Amino acid sequence: MRILLVEDDNVLADGIARALRAENFAVDHAGNGLDGGHLGATELYDAVVLDLGLPIKDGVTVLREWRAERRDMPVLVLTARDGWSEKVAAFKAGADDYLTKPFRVEEVVLRLRALVRRAAGHAGAILTCGKLVFDAQLGTFELEGLPLKLTAFEWRVLSALMLRKEVVVDRADLIERVYEGDADVDSNSIEVIIGRLRKKIGPTMIETVRGRGYRVTATGA
Ligand code: CA
Repeated sequence: MRILLVEDDNVLADGIARALRAENFAVDHAGNGLDGGHLGATELYDAVVLDLGLPIKDGVTVLREWRAERRDMPVLVLTARDGWSEKVAAFKAGADDYLTKPFRVEEVVLRLRALVRRAAGHAGAILTCGKLVFDAQLGTFELEGLPLKLTAFEWRVLSALMLRKEVVVDRADLIERVYEGDADVDSNSIEVIIGRLRKKIGPTMIETVRGRGYRVTATGA
């Protein structure tokens, strides 16, 4: 899962980015509305954390422009404590959820997981595929009832596949959801991660669809 964080307070942004990366998310950070607006319009994100008070271009304008361009990723806005009219403007512009400053970064993580899961079409938190269970609210995997330990990259690939289980996820789509914007990506890196995942969850659950991408399926389990 890859998150866009648009926040001009660098201390706050660092705290949110650190908390998200500790929970395996990939994070791109923009410090003003112009850069953030451009990233959200051109890159693929599972969700966005958008501050409303931003230099150059304010958050509500950024959000309105994304929605006008049919960029429909879930957006969690950050508002000032007494910003009632700001909240209303943000929801009218297409916000999905909000947090009032100050907040605990843990709450950002929990709200984002819920937004990403619902955007993928899952009302419930527990996603099962054969012997593999993903708790999309806690961000944890179990294999045959035992906790499955994954690296951040493995987690990003497997969660992207589980959120779309039984559906082929394009290789290019996976690359966008796994790597941060400034990462150097080897052409075969997704294959390497898939290979490591197959060692952990067995060789048959992740199906390679030649020329397209990958699919998590219970039929091979
Ligand atoms: Ca701000």
